[in-house]
Amino acid sequence: MCGDLRSTDAGQTVTLMGWVNRRRDHGNLIFLDLRDRSGITQVVLDKEAAPLAHAKAEAARPEYVVAVTGRVRVRGAGLANPNMPTGEIEVVASDLLLLNDAKTPPFSPAEDAPVNEEVRLKYRYIDLRRTEMQHNFALRSRVAMAIRNYLVGQGFLEIETPFMTRSTPEGARDYLVPSRVHGGQFYALPQSPQIFKQILMVSGFDRYFQIARCFRDEDLRADRQPEFTQIDLEMSFPQMATIFATTEGFLRAAFAAAGITLSAEPFIQMTYDQAVTKFGTDKPDMRLPALVDLSDVLTPTLREALKIEQRLPVLAIVIPKTGILSATARKAMQSETRAFFGESGLDVLDVVRLALSENPDFQGLAAKIKSRVDAELISFFGSLDPEIPNTVAVITPKLGTPPKWNHDPQWIYKRVGALRLDLAKKFADKHKLFEQTQTASDFKFLWVTDFPMYEWNEEHKTWDAAHHPFTSPHEDDITSGKLTSDKGAVRALAYDIVLNGTELGSGSIRIHRKDVQQQIFRSLGMSDEEAHARFGFFLDALEYGTPPHGGIALGLDRIVMILAGATSLREVIAFPKTAKAIDLMVDAPTPVSEQQLRELSLKVVTRS
Ligand code: ASP
Repeated sequence: MCGDLRSTDAGQTVTLMGWVNRRRDHGNLIFLDLRDRSGITQVVLDKEAAPLAHAKAEAARPEYVVAVTGRVRVRGAGLANPNMPTGEIEVVASDLLLLNDAKTPPFSPAEDAPVNEEVRLKYRYIDLRRTEMQHNFALRSRVAMAIRNYLVGQGFLEIETPFMTRSTPEGARDYLVPSRVHGGQFYALPQSPQIFKQILMVSGFDRYFQIARCFRDEDLRADRQPEFTQIDLEMSFPQMATIFATTEGFLRAAFAAAGITLSAEPFIQMTYDQAVTKFGTDKPDMRLPALVDLSDVLTPTLREALKIEQRLPVLAIVIPKTGILSATARKAMQSETRAFFGESGLDVLDVVRLALSENPDFQGLAAKIKSRVDAELISFFGSLDPEIPNTVAVITPKLGTPPKWNHDPQWIYKRVGALRLDLAKKFADKHKLFEQTQTASDFKFLWVTDFPMYEWNEEHKTWDAAHHPFTSPHEDDITSGKLTSDKGAVRALAYDIVLNGTELGSGSIRIHRKDVQQQIFRSLGMSDEEAHARFGFFLDALEYGTPPHGGIALGLDRIVMILAGATSLREVIAFPKTAKAIDLMVDAPTPVSEQQLRELSLKVVTRS
């Protein structure tokens, strides 16, 4: 192939087929750079030695498809190109066939991607010819294969589940498929294989996996696609630890396929509560120091003096290695922070002013804050670098700040956690903690466990399942009656795997008893009739000998995106949709004919 030849091949006669990447015409000598997915080889056409081939090369243009036969020769002294793997050789053509011509493409695959992504998506076949894209999809294929091999090696069976099914419970909107045979009735495309994989456990398959397409009709954020791919698995009789070890195993295999050796140490684990109180989020970015809890340092007397609400947390964010901020930069940061918190009641404490104050209590407070912050920096970096100053933002609740927000007593941690990320992004150039070296040290994994079972839906004023309604609550929280008395406090046997502040996947130990499942449906405000209508088949299945089971699903697209060092899922999905859910290449969605609508018993009504 075009990327294969080396100086050790000199003297051989070869035939290469590919696309003209670039063409340089020096009169008697024409150079064609021939490209296929493996790379590029320089082909030389000499008018004297091969007049026919040379004449054809005169007609060749970029992106023509050609076949060349010729001899491999080591390039002359000083002419080697060290930037190309084939740079030491060239092929001296004896024959050239023009297999197909090409219109001048809207952009050249030989160059960097055009800025306008719509052009790339419309002409995706040309965009995919670019080296970077070829690399991304070769990587994706290797990663998927590594995961398959690993799981099959662990005794998993890959089993396909249907695309045309009924509504599944991941909580997003369904894509619907109208039935022609049953006019007025619809299949739904699966939001995940959740119910099917659980039923496969009831069926005795014990270890299932699938690299499965999922469909969710959500308003698309930058990093979402209406259809995406999950590495989906389910196991019977698992301990949580079994699921964690399996997931870590296939992730190590996936990373190895990208040339990154992750350590064999198990990933760290923390509970949801620990994650929220230490990092202000359920998906902590462990590349940054934790929040520093100053609640006890702010004694009741100090709180009174500084007009800080008693009993609510006081938290500090430390941004490493910013250098000393000028007074103006400090003021700007303070007012941006106040704007960030809006009317919530949260405020910033000016520690620099405290330290300079005449009041010894305030000076003492400033010293204590410093020593707490230093302790966090030492635990994060292993030592303290006194040479490079850090910036600290202390966040205090003003008098009257509410202890709960939307039924959430941890809202202060979460708001401060969001600011921690915001500031870390702003100062990324200084602390360099987000810099990618493409080694294992770039990747900070962790498990977050014990998620809340329910989440308050302010819009509908209901408690919804935080994961999905098949997740098992903690046994203790069922027996203590919290399912009805204190939904906000019920913990679930649910877990997330998090990498560098993004959720890669989530899963849970499932409910395997019908009575518990019914109880959960009821606690979600679903009547027995409604539960039966939606999930009757599943409730029935639970009664025929269901083993304890659990599983997880991870986003393959996101994993490949991270491994490719790409910034958008669209870089690793061959034919993605835009943020408006449009496929610009095939131009979908489209209206359909009256005839098709009639067959499907459908009528289109324009929504006002
Ligand atoms: N089906 C779940 C999801 O897609 C994952 C799981 O619980 O296994 O989020």
